[in-house]
Amino acid sequence: MKRSYRYRLKPNRQQSRTLSRMLETHRQLYNAALQERQEAWRMRRVSVSYVMQANQLKEIRSFDDEIAFLKYSSCQQTLRRLDKAFAAFFRRLKAGQEPGYPRYKSRRRFKSVAYVYGDGVRLKEGRLYVQNIGRVRIRLHRPLPAGAKIKQVVIKRSNSGEWYACFQIELPTPQVEPHPGPAVGIDLGLQHFAALSTGELVANPRWFRETEAALALAQRQRARCQRGSRRYRELSLRIVRLHEKIARQRRDFQHKLSRRLVQDFGLIVVEDLHILGLSRSMLAKSVHDAGWSQFLFFLTYKAEEAGSEVESVAANGTTQECAYCGTFVPKTLAERQHHCPHCGFTASRDVNAALNILFRSTAWAERPRKGLLSLVGLDLSTSQQAEVVGSRRL
Ligand SMILES: [Zn+2]
Repeated sequence: MKRSYRYRLKPNRQQSRTLSRMLETHRQLYNAALQERQEAWRMRRVSVSYVMQANQLKEIRSFDDEIAFLKYSSCQQTLRRLDKAFAAFFRRLKAGQEPGYPRYKSRRRFKSVAYVYGDGVRLKEGRLYVQNIGRVRIRLHRPLPAGAKIKQVVIKRSNSGEWYACFQIELPTPQVEPHPGPAVGIDLGLQHFAALSTGELVANPRWFRETEAALALAQRQRARCQRGSRRYRELSLRIVRLHEKIARQRRDFQHKLSRRLVQDFGLIVVEDLHILGLSRSMLAKSVHDAGWSQFLFFLTYKAEEAGSEVESVAANGTTQECAYCGTFVPKTLAERQHHCPHCGFTASRDVNAALNILFRSTAWAERPRKGLLSLVGLDLSTSQQAEVVGSRRL
């Protein structure tokens, strides 16, 4: 199985300059290769392939000192990246969509260079050796797993100018026993990050609001500045850094939560984000999709390692449905409680949704709805919100 490990690089000033120069040359190579493909098609109706472009590399390197300075295999990676962009374009075209034609990359949009590990890049005595750059300090905050085969290293520059190395590794697929733990349904929400069918509400972490507030403040301050002034540029950099900080914190939080879930549960039922209903609540949720798909990605690969199972189900209408008796109970976005006039079941809105998600999984769907709640340890007398009750697997 494939995994990716990301580490912060701390190049010195000289190294950072050389890295930037290298990135810039790769960008020019990418754009030149794109132009060649475009013109060959426009003037001669010839499609240029990756192999044709890679075959020219040697000759280009004989007269272009900047490109000769780059590692040969990393140039191939850049050409391959363009090839992938075209492949995706044609695939989507064939599927009847309207994809955007591969674009020329501006400095801001071209941020990474890929290396074949061992060919111009390798770890050596706690540093990352990069050919023509030297030994770059790297913060190895967690070790690469034992038995990892490093395939590729992608060197990246963030928008605020920080450098990272992403190790793409290959691990032997572990032989894990199926996790014997209980089942849980998860509703990803706005008010809370998630609600579990056990009754637990996982709050959005506090840093989230704090960093978001700092970001909003910086954005307001910048709005009052003259565009392009020194203060404007300072604030722009701060805004970029805050965005990166939020992304870092979010990733960290999601890693921790997903780790805990695969430790505790043998079956985790989540909503399928690709099946979007058109209800108002789903529209509001779509804003958060990017963060949620990352979370589900972490959850899925961690489950694979822990022997747990992740099942995704269509979640349309899970908020409105009563988890106890199945009656349709309409609510507005503002209503935080589910209270069923038909059977009297009361729960937090999101916990009710999480229960419905759990009951839509294949293992539970066959069961008659009545009595499902007693199976997860909930009944009418104990169905208060945020009460943590154990759930048992069928
Ligand atoms: Zn009911």
